Amino acid sequence: MIKTKYLFDRASFPVIGEYDVAVIGAGPGGIGAAVSAARMGMKTILVEQYGFPGGVATNGCCPLYFLFSSNGKQIIGGVADELIRILDEELHDASFMIEDYFMPEYLPINKRQLLYKVVSTVESIRIASNRLLNKSGVVSLFYAHLFGAVEEGGRIVAAAVDCLEGPCLIKAKTFVDATGDAHMIYRAGGGIGTVMYSFEESMHKSMSFEVGGVTAFNREVNNKVYKNLYEAGKTPANVLPHLAIGHRLTPGVVQIGFNKALGMSVDSADMTRMDAELREQIPEIVDFLRREIPGFKHCYLINSAIQVGVRAGRGIIGIGKLTKDIIAADELPEKPIALITKSYGSHSVKKEFTPKWRNVMQGISAIPLDALIPVRFTNVLACGRCISADPHVFDTFRMMTTCMVTGQAAGITAALSARDNVAIKEVPYDMIRSRMLETGCILEPDK
Ligand SMILES: Cc1cc2nc3c(=O)[nH]c(=O)nc-3n(C[C@H](O)[C@H](O)[C@H](O)COP(=O)(O)OP(=O)(O)OC[C@H]3O[C@@H](n4cnc5c(N)ncnc54)[C@H](O)[C@@H]3O)c2cc1C
Repeated sequence: MIKTKYLFDRASFPVIGEYDVAVIGAGPGGIGAAVSAARMGMKTILVEQYGFPGGVATNGCCPLYFLFSSNGKQIIGGVADELIRILDEELHDASFMIEDYFMPEYLPINKRQLLYKVVSTVESIRIASNRLLNKSGVVSLFYAHLFGAVEEGGRIVAAAVDCLEGPCLIKAKTFVDATGDAHMIYRAGGGIGTVMYSFEESMHKSMSFEVGGVTAFNREVNNKVYKNLYEAGKTPANVLPHLAIGHRLTPGVVQIGFNKALGMSVDSADMTRMDAELREQIPEIVDFLRREIPGFKHCYLINSAIQVGVRAGRGIIGIGKLTKDIIAADELPEKPIALITKSYGSHSVKKEFTPKWRNVMQGISAIPLDALIPVRFTNVLACGRCISADPHVFDTFRMMTTCMVTGQAAGITAALSARDNVAIKEVPYDMIRSRMLETGCILEPDK
């Protein structure tokens, strides 16, 4: 791994804009952050390396929003709820998965509370996210890759971004690192202030893809067929022990998500190797499905993720941290900014990594605000899957819905910090909380 300090002299590149809030990364976290900051009247820019927003939903072929509710109560609201309403009411391209956990209901959601998983399509999520960003007044700058930052006296003063027209600087009063792997805070700090998770901690990588031409099948039968083949060593190499598949909104189209690769997401050579391995595996899996799995005899590949799917890679070291103890406690932690369920599992590389906690605890916990605030830099927050956390508990907050809420908390805090000219950690929690509640976030489990 190459270790470089990515700090630049700010005189080197042209400044292409000055903002109150700059959010880097347009995944679920970045969308939540940018929308929330812009709606507070802050001049807000959202920078993204690909040409569209959505993060893993749209670059990882995963248009399926988990975990809106717990025990029959909605626990995620705000921007995540709004996105689903656009998908449903404007684009008519969303459905609950109710009866069968992996089968769409194929009905409009209408005004129903979000109590189930919601499936949509990659194409509609890109459009709906753009609409949400535009309506909120966010300046979207896509096809722009962050490669460094300019630091001055413990603050980041500019993001160094490689645009199609060349490298440039974007200045802002506050920044939100929503890159998934804490790329901004890592580069700005020369590695200090972030932590890279090991193989065991960072979960396996995978590459989702879609097949069409699937006919009716019985899920239980297929699960048994697959399990027997897996145990007999007759499945393709490097697959999960269970048949992870789910129906898409187009009848006959199924998402396949049971391949895996091992490696580090913050290492270009490793990502290159894993990408090649996973792509070699896809036709092999399609052949296997055709040969062995009822309902898949005539299936064919439609498309696949445009990059390796990463669940965790690098996170920030925060002034606070989401831990197992916080989750196991009876009370919510101090300064809660997003509700999460206590019951969680994992895509762990090592089987023994989380079994004690896997799906055993009941009830609700929450992410504390301090897990979003890095120890380094006074004007930056993180959100989404790179907040500060014990790796055992990644599965409690890495779903897209929860990432949007941590994004909202980060965006609101960044906006208040920019508006009132105070350091991020001096922004009063009560102000953040009241803005979150005003904008539809749910912060109390019983309401
Ligand atoms: C294979 C797989 C399947 C999953 N399935 C589901 C599912 O079914 N349901 C669910 O709810 N969750 C699912 N998840 C989890 C979820 O998708 C992610 O945890 C979530 O998207 C994280 O959101 P995020 O905004 O933190 O990061 P990301 O979604 O990773 O978004 C980060 C964004 O930042 C951009 N970016 C990164 N670096 C730079 C840079 N240097 N410059 C500019 N832009 C940059 C990226 O292009 C990306 O758009 C899945 C994850 C994986 C890997």
